[in-house]
Amino acid sequence: MKELEKIKKEVLNCRKCQLFREKEKYGFYPVFGEGNPRAKIMFVGEAPGLNEAKTGRPFCGKAGKVLDELLESVGIKRNEVYISNLLKCRPPENRDPQEEEISACSSYLERQIEIIKPKIICPLGRYSMKFLMEKYGLKEKIEPISKIHGKIFEIKTLFQKIKIIPFYHPAVVTYNINMKKTLKRDFKILEKFKKELI
Ligand code: URA
Repeated sequence: MKELEKIKKEVLNCRKCQLFREKEKYGFYPVFGEGNPRAKIMFVGEAPGLNEAKTGRPFCGKAGKVLDELLESVGIKRNEVYISNLLKCRPPENRDPQEEEISACSSYLERQIEIIKPKIICPLGRYSMKFLMEKYGLKEKIEPISKIHGKIFEIKTLFQKIKIIPFYHPAVVTYNINMKKTLKRDFKILEKFKKELI
């Protein structure tokens, strides 16, 4: 899709925050996002890790394996959804995103959402959850992700209704295997909407 390609080019040459230095120093790729440009479900992770920065593809390392398993568990194919991140460049040592990086980068995600027009947006992890809930006027509903993971927040924009469903970040499973059960249970919600979405 032309409009997405245009943003992708901008992201490739982006120097809006300090993370471009890492990118240029190590020859990393920014990770724009991939999947169905007409997807009804969009996942938004935090920022690329090392594997992602080396390949330019979202969720292609350990956390990606977990995400693939979760999608498979509810019968959704990766190429049916769109997968992106809040930050397009890798923060050093996978540290948390900083406020000024989010401010500099988030308009790319906002433009992706405007073009793709997903009906369901699933933030993966607390940073994208906070950003997206604030963006859609749900600031006062923000609670720790341990409380609101798997909950559905419905909002109305000018043109459509959108559901925001925050999930734990799939990487939690690599620290605590028991979290896989929780994530699988939360992902079941998507099964309910699958038919009308694909
Ligand atoms: N973690 C993320 O948040 N995004 C990726 O693309 C990979 C790991």
